[in-house]
Amino acid sequence: MEDTASESPLAGRCHCGKVRYEAGGRTFNPTICHCADCRRVAGAPCVAWFSVERDGFRVIAGEMRLYASSARAERGFCADCGASLTFQAHDLPGEIDVTTASLDEPGRVPPADHTRTARRLPWMRFADGLPAYPGTREEGLAGADGSGQD
Ligand SMILES: [Zn+2]
Ligand SMILES: [Zn+2]
Repeated sequence: MEDTASESPLAGRCHCGKVRYEAGGRTFNPTICHCADCRRVAGAPCVAWFSVERDGFRVIAGEMRLYASSARAERGFCADCGASLTFQAHDLPGEIDVTTASLDEPGRVPPADHTRTARRLPWMRFADGLPAYPGTREEGLAGADGSGQD
């Protein structure tokens, strides 16, 4: 749980630039997620995320489309270029996850751990020294089998 005090609000955009957002306030739970849902949605072996309070996130240009990636969550993306931008769990209405790599300055929010590593691709190797949780962070290092998905 890295809290980053930010001087200027974090800002980001999709690949084509039609959707732009600001993510203000404190950031928390920066992670690299290895779940199968993130992998499929992004077409990438894993996806870096951070969280902000829901009130701190706002789309400032364009329109972000929502996709129900599971029964418990919606993911925000650009309908033109397909870039993955947000993850919103229905049971956590007060917060929203944002893809770190869509930030204008991704280096400002480095990941603090890996999550759902039980689902990681077998050829993924970590040399960053960060904790790697098989399931969720809350389940801990000895945690569940990671069969749950985002
Ligand atoms: Zn776009
Ligand atoms: Zn995930």
